[in-house]
Amino acid sequence: MSASTTMPAIAVYPGRADTVHLTELPRPTPGPGEALVRVRRVGVCGTDQEIIAALFGSPPTGSDELVLGHEVLGVVEATGPRTDGVREGDLVVATVRRPDGCPACLAGQPDMCVWQGFTERGIVGAHGYMVERFVEDVRHLVVLPPALESVGVLLEPLTVVEKALRQADLIQRRLASWAPKTALILGAGPIGLLGALLLRSRGIDVVVVARRPAPNPAAAIVEGCGGRYASLRETPLAELAADLPPFDLVFEATGVAQLAFEAMGVLGSNGVLVLLSNTGGDEVAPVPVARLNLGFVQGNKVLVGSVNAAHEDFTAGVADLGRFEELWPGLTARLITHRLNGFADVARIAGGIDEGIKAVIEFAQ
Ligand SMILES: [Zn+2]
Repeated sequence: MSASTTMPAIAVYPGRADTVHLTELPRPTPGPGEALVRVRRVGVCGTDQEIIAALFGSPPTGSDELVLGHEVLGVVEATGPRTDGVREGDLVVATVRRPDGCPACLAGQPDMCVWQGFTERGIVGAHGYMVERFVEDVRHLVVLPPALESVGVLLEPLTVVEKALRQADLIQRRLASWAPKTALILGAGPIGLLGALLLRSRGIDVVVVARRPAPNPAAAIVEGCGGRYASLRETPLAELAADLPPFDLVFEATGVAQLAFEAMGVLGSNGVLVLLSNTGGDEVAPVPVARLNLGFVQGNKVLVGSVNAAHEDFTAGVADLGRFEELWPGLTARLITHRLNGFADVARIAGGIDEGIKAVIEFAQ
């Protein structure tokens, strides 16, 4: 193919560790109901690192390569016929999961997929967004106001906690009244911090716990939105919780399975614990089963897992990103601690990204 008909992309050979490389894809053209999106920025997350380490990920049918990236912000460059609601020049984020034919997917809830036959762009069976341009069905695009250009790349990770809170709200319809006042967030990565912003924006008292002692950039963000940060290196979770009021809501987002079980021990009566960590491996650990079981029974507590997000979580997230900017101007963008330079920095992506909060890849316009 000639240079004008192809475009660069960042890909791996799934199943083989450390195979990040530049590749070429055919330059796509939008068909009916589709938009051509020029990629502006892509976030890198733990899932990408797991795919690079060959712990996860699969290529599209007929390919041995998978283009990485599922946290995208782009600009619509062209549209095909019948693309109501999306126009040239729109700032957009694309959702990640694409439905199979299961009852949940058919009902518009691919995030609750029953058959597990879905694809996910940049993760499972479909190319991702670390590419110059991509074509997408406009039903999978979410339009953002131009004012959210600096933070829009964080929409996809925000939807993880948007869904978590929506699930908790749905579950708590069992109660005559549900007005959570206190929340604990385990983990101060992007998910934990976006969770802190979300719950603080709802007026909930938030404690974020993580390993690193303060001061650090994550603790500064927690404090910037009026939350409290505590280091587990200094105080164990049970000891921390003993000095605090009972938690109505807990989000577990550390990636450490042990902490999911410790969190069960500090959840308040009638509370909800939402597990959000994708924990690999086969770790086995002793757990105080009688005490945890009794606490859940006597306290009417709920433990729920949550993965991915629905389209409604993306639209809710757009509104909340705007709310965060109103409440704490510039704070959300401080989650982006590393900026890589598009296709030129492919070696840095391959080499792994050192400890920060969120790395994004900037693509030249
Ligand atoms: Zn499904």
